[in-house]
Amino acid sequence: MSRCRICGEKISRLPFYRAERHPHYKSLHPDYVKWHGRFIMKVLKAGLLIVILVLYLDIISLQYYGGLATYPLFLVLAYVVAIYIEFLRNLVRFRHQWNEHHPPLPDSPAGPHST
Ligand SMILES: [Zn+2]
Repeated sequence: MSRCRICGEKISRLPFYRAERHPHYKSLHPDYVKWHGRFIMKVLKAGLLIVILVLYLDIISLQYYGGLATYPLFLVLAYVVAIYIEFLRNLVRFRHQWNEHHPPLPDSPAGPHST
């Protein structure tokens, strides 16, 4: 079992990248599914651009300095961090939207606090 990233409901497990194909997401979070599809395309396009750029910088570095430069690695790192932040930012947005329309039920009993 796994938990929905937006409403926290227990759902059957699916790989991270396919989660949006889950019937739960399809029926309850269609906006998220739409956004996720666009996001993946953006990630792939930006990734391709980064790969080309890093290869280009490495070729130039090899030609002029006889060795691989380390700074293209920082581009890759920045790319990964940017994607991660963008993803979390939107996940928080979807969660907020969900909570606005579906306030948590106050009648859920608090479990015993074991120390
Ligand atoms: Zn959900």
